[in-house]
Amino acid sequence: MENIIEIKGLNKSFITEKKQEINALKNIDIAIKDQEFICILGPSGSGKSTLLRLMEGLINPTTGSINVMGKLLTNPIPESGFVFQEYSLMPWRNIIDNVSFGLELRKYTKKQRYKIAEDILSKFGLKEFIKSFPYELSGGMKQRAAIARAMATSPKILYMDEPFGALDAYTRFQMQKELIEFWLKEKRTIVFVTHSVEEAIFLGTRVIIMSPRPGEIVADYNIDLSYPRNRWNEEFGSYFENIMNLMNEISEVQVPRRCEVI
Ligand code: ADP
Ligand code: MG
Repeated sequence: MENIIEIKGLNKSFITEKKQEINALKNIDIAIKDQEFICILGPSGSGKSTLLRLMEGLINPTTGSINVMGKLLTNPIPESGFVFQEYSLMPWRNIIDNVSFGLELRKYTKKQRYKIAEDILSKFGLKEFIKSFPYELSGGMKQRAAIARAMATSPKILYMDEPFGALDAYTRFQMQKELIEFWLKEKRTIVFVTHSVEEAIFLGTRVIIMSPRPGEIVADYNIDLSYPRNRWNEEFGSYFENIMNLMNEISEVQVPRRCEVI
């Protein structure tokens, strides 16, 4: 299968207000196939969000290139959808108007957008909450609505930046399971950023590991475990141990083994 995303020789630096240059990403090469579930894992500041924003077309590389579906990326394209940790929903709009926002931009009629939004919200178990406002929903429900919103325009690629980072552990586990069920059914390409080793192994067909700044790819693991995954089994444990060891080696601050906060 051909690559849906191809990143070649990418470097990204920022110039701060004090005219200092910050090298955020260095020598990034990634090829992603259609329908892969890619987890990008790295310590805080390793350039994960920057890499995602580049793939979304929100910012441009300093050098190097990103091709999405065979075309050079220069701006955001309609084939991609985004989910962030917070601020994904507009607090002044109710859930159905949040979910249908992208369709509104694409000039669908109100009837058309509500039909699509209602269908997708029922898939995500939120049918009864279409008229609710974001503040009336729990954290898990808000993120479900944010994923529904990203999916309303049927993007081929879904970019997710630590989307479950603010959820309690139980809700987070539930959401991870739901996301896998959704991905197995809908067969999209997902690029998911996380700093949790455990989350990355639970979700990804591949886990790409970034070093501390400047972010470079230090490893690219195929996670050869069938879905749904069991985080308590031995094979899962050995992936966890290998990746934790690597993370310990590359990070400046040593983190205690087997004490990961998720
Ligand atoms: P991560 O998501 O892995 O925590 P980020 O991609 O947010 O990392 O940031 C990587 C590095 O780039 C950090 O050192 C951050 O301060 C810097 N950075 C990100 N965006 C900007 C910007 N717009 N201007 C200057 N520096 C930035
Ligand atoms: Mg980030």
